[in-house]
Amino acid sequence: MHTQLLKLDPDNPDLEVLHKAALILNQGGLVAIPTETVYGLAANIFDPSAVAKIYTAKGRPGNNPLIVHVYSVEQAKSLVLNWNDTAQKLAEAFWPGPFTMVLDKKDLVPDCVTAGASSVALRIPKLFVTRKLIEIAGVPLAAPSANISGAISPTTASHVLKDLDGRIEMILDAGPASGGIESTVLDIRSNPPTLLRPGLVTVQMIEKIIGPIKQFQQQHLQSGAFPSPGMMARHYAPKTPVINVENSGIEMLEKLKKEGLKVRLLGFHKIEDAICLPENPVGYASALYAALHDLDAMGLDRIVIALPPNTPQWLAIRDRLNRAATPAD
Ligand code: AMP
Ligand code: MG
Repeated sequence: MHTQLLKLDPDNPDLEVLHKAALILNQGGLVAIPTETVYGLAANIFDPSAVAKIYTAKGRPGNNPLIVHVYSVEQAKSLVLNWNDTAQKLAEAFWPGPFTMVLDKKDLVPDCVTAGASSVALRIPKLFVTRKLIEIAGVPLAAPSANISGAISPTTASHVLKDLDGRIEMILDAGPASGGIESTVLDIRSNPPTLLRPGLVTVQMIEKIIGPIKQFQQQHLQSGAFPSPGMMARHYAPKTPVINVENSGIEMLEKLKKEGLKVRLLGFHKIEDAICLPENPVGYASALYAALHDLDAMGLDRIVIALPPNTPQWLAIRDRLNRAATPAD
């Protein structure tokens, strides 16, 4: 299959291009779409054979449910049984944005989208171009990250091309994704709601709106038990083995170099053989996956990562870095 790559202005998109993309989606094809978090691989949720193509193109395990992208709160409400006060408050606070809510689904949402679960995960993406595409397509779009399952998520169209060229009909290139890591996922069916995946909308931001929530994240990373499918221990991972350290990483870098290994450091110091990332979570998230893609392309023996501090603001970043460092089975 030939994969078309088309450029778009994220704020003032060419409607003709969006209509072309919408036509592919309406005919059961796959389109990689820009979002403010990472690039997504989109299909019409009401077309089970199109949804099945997402799993095939990504090599995604069938038990890992998909996030459904909608363009309005009304469209979100049309897919769920129990839109309540909590959902309304959270939507008003964080939509459009990098925040996903899990609610009980209506029967009209096909089981293949939710990996058989009776719940559905929903969000309204922030980029105007993404919302406009959903509106023109006229259907909600299931869209996981547009990469081979388990690998580093794409933050540019060229990252998508590297993994999915020839496997999908179209890639819409609206420039680098500014958020840089995947959305926060909150299950609001439990009382209090449960954080399934940390992201740029932080626990503190959520608790300010709806009061205390439950956090499973820290426990999973230790016990390996996941309350929701898809929370694999290894994920977001470069092919190069990753070593995480709770310090500057310089000592580990030097040690491995002495052993004759080809190694680079991802850290906070501007030194030789290192990529230096911003010391704030938002800036770090925005640059992280591009840095991992670059490091992975260098043919290294190891990537050393200097972990940011173990504080609430860095929860989402440390979650991704811990999964990136988990060895393949
Ligand atoms: P991604 O791989 O970035 O598309 O993320 C999808 C993630 O959202 C999954 O791995 C789950 O953690 C979460 N998720 C999606 N749908 C559901 C659902 N119906 N119930 C619980 N979690 C879900
Ligand atoms: Mg993903």
